[in-house]
Amino acid sequence: MTRTRLSADTNTQTSTHGQPPGAVAASSTPISVLLVATDSASYASVRDGLAGHGGEGFRVEWVTTLADALNRLNRRDVDVVLLSATTPGGDDREAFDLIRRTTPDALLLPLNALGFQDTGPSPSSEQPDASWLADTLRYVVQRKRVEAGLRASEDALFERLKHAEVTLASIGDAVLVTDFNSLVTYLNPVAEAMTGWPAEEAVGRPLGEIFHITIGGTGAKAVDPAQRAMLEDCTVGLEADCVLRRRDGTESGIEDSAAPLHDRHGRVSGAVIVFRDVSQSRKVTRRMAYLARHDALTGLPNRALLKERLGQSIRLADRHGKQAALLYVDLDNFKDINDALGHVVGDQVLKAVAGHLTRCVRASDTVCRHGGDEFVILLSEIATPADAEQVTNKLLNTFASPIEVNGHALQVGLSIGVSIYPDHGDSADALTEHADQAMYRARAISRNGNDTALGQRQASGRPLAESARGDLHRAFDNREFLLHYQPQIDVPSGQIIGVEALVRWLHPVRGLMYPGQFMGLAEQAGLSVPLGRWVIREACQQITTWKASSLWAPLLAVNISALEFSHTRFATELEAILRETGLDAGELELELTEGVLMLDADASVTRLNELRDLGVTLAIDNFGTGPSSLNQLQRFPVHTLKVDGSFVHDINTARNDPAILRSLIGIGKSLKHRVVAEGVETVQQYGFIKAQHCDAAQGFQLGYPLGAEDCTLLLAIRGHLLRCRES
Ligand code: C2E
Ligand code: MG
Repeated sequence: MTRTRLSADTNTQTSTHGQPPGAVAASSTPISVLLVATDSASYASVRDGLAGHGGEGFRVEWVTTLADALNRLNRRDVDVVLLSATTPGGDDREAFDLIRRTTPDALLLPLNALGFQDTGPSPSSEQPDASWLADTLRYVVQRKRVEAGLRASEDALFERLKHAEVTLASIGDAVLVTDFNSLVTYLNPVAEAMTGWPAEEAVGRPLGEIFHITIGGTGAKAVDPAQRAMLEDCTVGLEADCVLRRRDGTESGIEDSAAPLHDRHGRVSGAVIVFRDVSQSRKVTRRMAYLARHDALTGLPNRALLKERLGQSIRLADRHGKQAALLYVDLDNFKDINDALGHVVGDQVLKAVAGHLTRCVRASDTVCRHGGDEFVILLSEIATPADAEQVTNKLLNTFASPIEVNGHALQVGLSIGVSIYPDHGDSADALTEHADQAMYRARAISRNGNDTALGQRQASGRPLAESARGDLHRAFDNREFLLHYQPQIDVPSGQIIGVEALVRWLHPVRGLMYPGQFMGLAEQAGLSVPLGRWVIREACQQITTWKASSLWAPLLAVNISALEFSHTRFATELEAILRETGLDAGELELELTEGVLMLDADASVTRLNELRDLGVTLAIDNFGTGPSSLNQLQRFPVHTLKVDGSFVHDINTARNDPAILRSLIGIGKSLKHRVVAEGVETVQQYGFIKAQHCDAAQGFQLGYPLGAEDCTLLLAIRGHLLRCRES
């Protein structure tokens, strides 16, 4: 049976129930004493001893059996166990151990060791005074409690440190700690890997030795972030673009922050640096920034970057009193190459072209892929437009030879349009627009050879290389020029009434070339006038040859350039040629564009009169495309108006109202001029101009320009037919 007595003098209800005794505050919790004895005298003595002499704060319980004692001790809130040998089994060593195991933290004392008599169930009056016991127990228990408290906090601290270490070891960021003297005190495994220093070697070394950082690009030493954090006593970020050099010399871009550490008095005691490898993300960022401003295929700057650089060039040109040039480059036959050889070769061609273009300019210039087969070159800070001309010719010269791509030798033609800052515009947009249009005109001329005077001026010389100017002189000496003759048909009768002489250059490498491809260059090479004289002489000679061969000789039309026309000796030399070749002046018609005549309208009238006095007839070529007004037209003593082919081509389309062609023919008629429609390509067009009572017509529908031999044959057949019809 259990006899549990609560002591009468327990003066507090505070209990340590459920907690280890050492885990509570040493001073406030009553000391719990369990007496395990059969005699009540021991109990009374202990109780009185603890209660009487400073024994406040004790709670004494008494059990008489070992089983009750173990039962009570299971609650583990007993500080002191006083075990009497009178308890059955109480002197048993095993029982002692059992109690010790049940409550390892409690103080276990044999009662007789304290001087008590184990008198058994009959109480003894001779029990010792236990007043000394209070102080002793209090001292011992409180000491034990403090020790237990310390152990508990040590355990808690250990747990916390363990936890922090596991956390630091498992995070992806590198962590490095220094003391106040910037000596390394800790590195986590990521920091070890990133610096190349194992913690055991790094700890104790100066931070600069372990954490070697520089500024990317410059290689300059970066500011020590730990020092900054300690000095400024706040969290600081690393300088941008920081690079960490590992122990083995390899480098990686890092990003980090450093924060000061404080001791318990709040004083800065060190710093912790947290950093991570950002090489990969920096690479991706750089690649994305690069792609946003470059063409992925060729690696050249794209439109966005060009626009930026053009803006800079304009500002620089202004500041240094220079000019800038924009060259629009289009590949004439890229589509054909792509269609014939496939996109893979097409891409390689674009890359090869990009390489060639880049090698033709200075490193400070910008070659940009504008899209598709269009490239734009920005020449920054040129002294004069001649510099742009020089680059243009260099480009054309480079592309005059085939380029090697994938085993194919490919001839890539270029059309180039040029605009000069500030001559052609004062903004990036205006310059781009101008160069683009110039390129289109250049392309139109090099492709179908049928462009306006304006177009010819813009594109003049572009399709040939600089060395081609030298070529032109050689060509002239080597008689590489020849004439084609395009029939002019009398509309009412359908008969050939004339031929227009059209110059060609049979280039030894490039083959047959048309005036749009070389006339501008001939002008720059100073060959316009001699070439023009040669054309007139050659054409006149041809007509007299046909005449001499008893062929029917048509009227001859010859185109005259601005330089020839303005040349002071033009009329005199023309007269000489007529004399020399024996051609009747009335059989020769000189074609001049409105643009040429309008350069100096008054002088033109004088010259035209001079020529008319020689007996030659005069025609306004490409009528409708020039700047002259009706008033001025009336002043020019001309005989023929040749309506430009562009008005004839589009009569069936919405773009060009036939009313324009009708009125152009009407103007010619009202001025009493002979009206010739150019560029007649279809039966419908011919029908239309016929219905408008056009006098004559020219065009592929009526006869292609032919070489002298072919034309001789044509005239022979026509003459024969005519004679047949007459007889
Ligand atoms: P243009 O005087 O207007 O000559 C007519 C041009 O139109 C020729 O081009 C001719 O081949 C082309 N043509 C003829 N019929 C048609 C047609 O039905 N459709 C199309 N699309 N085109 C047609 P070419 O021979 O290339 O000459 C171009 C220009 O070069 C000439 O235009 C002329 O201004 C100039 N030119 C040609 N030969 C000489 C020359 O000996 N001296 C001078 N100064 N200029 C010349
Ligand atoms: Mg003509």
